[in-house]
Parts: sequence; C-alpha cells; structure tokens
Amino acid sequence: MARLTVITGPSGVGKGTLVRQLLERHPEIWLSVSATTRAPRTGETEGESYFFLSREDFEQRVRAGGFLEWAEFAGNLYGTPRRAVEDHLAQGRPVLLEIELEGARQVRRSFPAGFQLLIKPPSFEELERRIRGRGTDDEAAIEKRLERARVELAAEGEFDAVLVNDDLDACRSALERIMHLTTKKPPIGGASAAG
Ligand code: ADP
Ligand code: 5GP
Repeated sequence: MARLTVITGPSGVGKGTLVRQLLERHPEIWLSVSATTRAPRTGETEGESYFFLSREDFEQRVRAGGFLEWAEFAGNLYGTPRRAVEDHLAQGRPVLLEIELEGARQVRRSFPAGFQLLIKPPSFEELERRIRGRGTDDEAAIEKRLERARVELAAEGEFDAVLVNDDLDACRSALERIMHLTTKKPPIGGASAAG
C-alpha cells in the first residue's frame, strides 16, 4: 500500500463507514485525527472523532504552521495536524487521511507520491437519502453538503482511482484490492459473520 493514502468523497457517501471497516481489518493502518471547528455530533469523542477547536484556536494553529492542509467545508474549518502524520510516516506506518477536496489538492502538492481515492455514490438521489438517513445534520448543513457534493463529484478526473460505494462489502473489497491490502483469513473454527 502507498505510504500515504487520501480518501475523499461527498458527505454521506460512506467514507467513515468504509474507513472504520478498513481499520478493524487492517490495524497496521494509522488514521489521522483531524481538527475541526464543527460542533461534536452525538457520540463523537474528543481526540478520537476529531480534535474540536474554537475558530480562534484553529486559526492560531494555522498561523503556527501546525496543519499539513486545511480547508473550510460547509461553514466549518477542518485540518490535518502535521506532526502526527509526519511521525507515523517516519515510523513506516501506512497513513490514511479522510479529507475533503480542497485538502486533497493541497496534499497532492506536498505528497505527490501519495495515493488519492474518490468514493462516489451510485446516484445523487442515493447520496441525499444516506445523508438524510444518517440523521446527524440539520437542513441547512445538508443543503451545503449536497451543494458541495456536486463540486467534489465533478473533480473525479483528478484522482488516482474512483470507487462507487453501492454495495458496502463490494466497495470495501475493491478498496482493499486497490490499496494492495492483504485480508487475513479468520482463524479456523473462529468467529465468522454468521450468527
Ligand atoms: P461519510 O463519512 O462519507 O459522510 P457515512 O459513513 O457517515 O458517510 O455514511 C452515511 C450514511 O450512509 C450512514 O448512515 C451509513 O450507514 C450509510 N451507508 C454507508 N455506506 C452505505 C452503502 N454502501 N449502502 C447504504 N448505506 C450506506
Ligand atoms: P464531517 O463534518 O461530515 O465530519 O466532515 C465534513 C467533510 O470534512 C468531509 O468531507 C470530511 O472528509 C472532511 N474533513 C474531515 N477532516 C478533514 C481535514 O482534516 N481536512 C480537510 N480538508 N477535510 C476534512
């Protein structure tokens, strides 16, 4: 797998779901925890989901050069803390960033050897169904995210690979193939998906 992989895709396409499954199956991968000025959603925890910062603190960190990349998305700031990424790369860990389009473009400039993937929905209607079905965003946030989705989907030609997240398991398998991840077989007689 590439040392640095970037996963981008419109809000609600299933990036978080795919990444969670990938990390469970491939614990060698290190996922960068971003900083954001967005308010935590129910169930999100500081330092695991995000580092939740005030706008003032975020901007202070931008000035100090603390972010590898950062961007405004749907009215909030998001950024990848530089130090942790550099440390994990130095340790030889495969590093994964799950970020939006502007950030992916910045990383493409600073890490041209990184692998950049775009995840697409099977249709725009399905994307809207998923983002609404998730139930985490108010109407104004949903509108902004869907508007931005059109821009992100139009940028597919910039990416090294594009995957459609229609069937989740099929998409995850394709992701594993494309990232050259070997899937460990479950132990004989061990737990399986059955039951
Ligand atoms: P993102 O991180 O890209 O914003 P999420 O991972 O939060 O998206 O997924 C958005 C919603 O879509 C969640 O409710 C999730 O369970 C659902 N979802 C993800 N992948 C699929 C899929 N392949 N088919 C149907 N629903 C999906
Ligand atoms: P959400 O608010 O749904 O968690 O994330 C909104 C968008 O911000 C998603 O597209 C997500 O990939 C992106 N994002 C999360 N962290 C970062 C980051 O550190 N930098 C950038 N540029 N985008 C991020």
